[in-house]
Amino acid sequence: MHEALRDLPSIAALLASVKGSELPLWALTMAARDLVARERERRLQGRAPSSISARDVEARAQEHVAPRLRSVINATGIVLHTNLGRAPLAETAADSLARVARGYSNLEFDLASGERGSRHDHVAALLSAVTGAEAAVVVNNNAAALVLALAAMARGRDVIVSRGELIEIGGSFRIPEMLTLTGCGLREVGTTNRTHLRDYEAALPGAGLLLKVHRSNFAMTGFVAEVEPAAMAAAGRRADVPTLVDLGSGVLRDEATQRALGLPAEPSVQATVATGVDAVCFSGDKLLGGPQAGIIVGKRVWITAMAKHPLMRVLRPDKLTIAALEATLQLVRAERWQELPVWRLIDQPLASIQARAERLAALLRDASMNADVRPSEGTVGGGTMPTSVLPSYAVVLSGNARALEAALRAGSPPVIARVAHDALWLDMRCVADGDVGMLAEAVARAYGAMR
Ligand SMILES: *Cc1c(COP(=O)(O)O)cnc(C)c1O
Repeated sequence: MHEALRDLPSIAALLASVKGSELPLWALTMAARDLVARERERRLQGRAPSSISARDVEARAQEHVAPRLRSVINATGIVLHTNLGRAPLAETAADSLARVARGYSNLEFDLASGERGSRHDHVAALLSAVTGAEAAVVVNNNAAALVLALAAMARGRDVIVSRGELIEIGGSFRIPEMLTLTGCGLREVGTTNRTHLRDYEAALPGAGLLLKVHRSNFAMTGFVAEVEPAAMAAAGRRADVPTLVDLGSGVLRDEATQRALGLPAEPSVQATVATGVDAVCFSGDKLLGGPQAGIIVGKRVWITAMAKHPLMRVLRPDKLTIAALEATLQLVRAERWQELPVWRLIDQPLASIQARAERLAALLRDASMNADVRPSEGTVGGGTMPTSVLPSYAVVLSGNARALEAALRAGSPPVIARVAHDALWLDMRCVADGDVGMLAEAVARAYGAMR
C-alpha cells in the first residue's frame, strides 16, 4: 500500500464516530465515502494528511438529505436569468399551482356535461382575449411550440428562413437543427445582414412555410434590412403558404409602454397577431412572467391542426403549468402588471433599489464589513432584449472577490452575485425587500467561512 494511505480512516470508524446522529444511515455512509475518497485523493497528490471529524461527516450527510433544487437570492441584476429559473411566479399563480397540485382537478373533465374535456380549454379563451388571436394551444416550452408548429404547418416540406434569422438560442437550440428534426427542408433566403421581400417571394413556389424568428439574444445594427411579418404574411397568402413567427420573449405590453419603461421595444404578441400571420409562438416564462410553457396563438385551422397532431401528446403541458399559466394570464388581462414579479422588477423606481442597497450596506457596516453602494447595470436577460440596460444599484465588497463569490454560492441560502473589477457586486434590483436582512447574514457567514 502507498505509504501515505496507511492510516486513512475507515468508513466503519467514521460511521462509529457519528453513532446516535439524527441523520439517516444511507446519507452518513455516502458522506463517509465521499470524505474518505477526497482525503485519499489529497494524500495521493502528496498533501499532508488531515483528519475527518464526526462534524465533517454530519455536515456532508446534511448536504445529501437537503433538497438539491433550492431557492437562491438573485443578486445578479438579471431579471430573467435562465440558469436561475427565469420568471418568478405571481402570488396568485403560485397559489393556484399549489392548490391544483394538492388534489384533483377538472384538468380534462367538462364539469357542465360530465364528459371528457380538453386541458387547453382552461387557457385558450384567456390567450385569445389578451393576444387577439382566434385560437391558442400550450405546450411544454417554446422550443416544443416551434417543433409542433413546424410539424403541423410545414409537414415535411421546405421552410423559408432569412439567413439573418438562422439563430442559436443556447442549450443546443438551433433553427436549422429544429427543421431537420421535424423532417423539413431549409430554404435560406437573403444575406446575413439584409433580406428583402423579393427574396422570400422567389422562394415561395412549392415551399411549406414562411418562418420569421425573432433575434432574441443578439442585435444587428448598421446596413441591415428585414421584412415585416405583415408583408411576409401577404406574400405567403398569395402563394398559399402559411406564415409562422417565433417571437421568443412574447411581450404583451405595447411598444410605447416598453419604451416608457426604458426598454428597447420589441413587437408585442398582439401587434404581431394583428399583422395577419397564421401563427405566433412564444415562451411562458420570459416576458409573460408565467411558468415554463410554449404558447402558440393564431388562425383556428392551424391551431386545430396542432392540437390534433400526434406530437401534441408528447409535448403537452401538465396541470401545474396550466394552473400557473391561467392565473398569470388573468393578471395580464386585468393589466395588473405590478403583481407580475417580472414587470414589478423591471418597473421599480431607481430610488427604491438604491434605498435597498443602502439598507444592506448599513447592515454590513454595523457588522464591521466594508461595503460601498455604487450605481450598477442589470439587464432583462433570459435571451430577451439583448441591448436592454436596467440602471440599478449594487452593494460592492472589495478584496478577495472570487473567494467571497464562491462562499456566497456555497451558503444557505445560496447567493448568486457578480465579480467585476476585482470586487464583488450584489445588484439589488432582484433582491426582495424582505430578503435584505437574510442577505446581510449570508454575507457575514460567507466572510466567516473564508477565514
Ligand atoms: C427563448 C426562445 C426560444 C426557446 O424558448 P424556450 O421556452 O426556452 O424553449 C425559441 N425561440 C426564440 C426566438 C426564443 O427567444
